[in-house]
Amino acid sequence: MSGSKEHNGAISRQLSDVEQHITGQEQGRMIGGELLDRLAGADVIGWGALLCAPFVGSFLGVVIRRLPEGRSIGWVRSRCECCGVALRVRDLVPLYSWLATGGRCRYCGHRLGWFYPGTELSAFVVAIAALSVDGGEGTWLDCFLGWWLLALGWIDLRQWVLPDALTLPLVIAGLAAAAAFEPENVTDRALGAALGYISLRAVALLYRVVRGREGLGHGDAKLLAASGAWVGAMALPQVVLGAAVSALFAAACLRLAGVRLGAHSALPFGPFLALATWLIWLFGPFFM
Ligand SMILES: [Zn+2]
Repeated sequence: MSGSKEHNGAISRQLSDVEQHITGQEQGRMIGGELLDRLAGADVIGWGALLCAPFVGSFLGVVIRRLPEGRSIGWVRSRCECCGVALRVRDLVPLYSWLATGGRCRYCGHRLGWFYPGTELSAFVVAIAALSVDGGEGTWLDCFLGWWLLALGWIDLRQWVLPDALTLPLVIAGLAAAAAFEPENVTDRALGAALGYISLRAVALLYRVVRGREGLGHGDAKLLAASGAWVGAMALPQVVLGAAVSALFAAACLRLAGVRLGAHSALPFGPFLALATWLIWLFGPFFM
C-alpha cells in the first residue's frame, strides 16, 4: 500500500511540474482557443448579437452625437457634415462603407474621422465579450447593458454630461430585468438603485462643503443608481472601487503621456463607472 502511495506522490509531483510549465503565453493561447470554441459553438442568439452589433454601434454613434445637443435621434436621414448630401443605404453599412471609401465622404472627399467606425467596432467588441463570457440566452441582456453603458460613457467623455434620458431608463430596465429573470434579487437591486444615488449625492455634497466647488455631477449619482439596479447593493462598493482604481490608472497613463494633471483638472467619472458596472455584471464581484 505504501508503494502505491509513493507512486501517487510521484505522479502528483510530475503533474505539478507540468502545471508549472504552462506559461502565461500558453494560458493566453488556451483562453483564445476557448473564445474561438465559444464563437464556433454560438447558437442563433449569439450570431444574431454579433451580426447586429455594428448596426447598433452605428445607431449609438448617432445617439452619442445628437442626444446631448437635443437633436432628434429618430429616423432622420444622415447627411455628410461637410457637403450636406443625404447619405444612401450603401453609405450607411457599418465599417464596410467606411473601409470602401478609405474613410472619406463618397461625394466631397471630406475626411470622416474615426468616430463612426470607432462606435461600430466598440459595439462589436461588447458583443464578442458578452458571447465569450455568457454564451446562452443571457448574451442579449449583456449586450443591451454593455451597449447602453458604452453610449453613456462615450457621451460623458465627449461632453461631460450623463443625460437623464439615458440614465433613468437604465435604472428602470435594471429593475425590470431583475423582476423578469431574478425575482429573488429584486429587493437587493432596488436597494442598490437607492443606495447608489444617495451615496454619490452625499459624497458630492461633502466635496462641495470641503472644497467649495463641484466634484461629482448629479449624472454620476444617477448612473450609480442604474449600476445598483443591475448589480445590486452588495456589489455596489466594488463598482465604486473599480471605477476609482481605473480612473487613477487612466490619470497615471495621461501623466506618463505628458498631460499635466493638477488639483483643479478632472476626468469625467462616468466612463469608469460604466466600465466597472459592466465588468462586475459580466464576471460577478471581484471579491465577496
Ligand atoms: Zn461630403
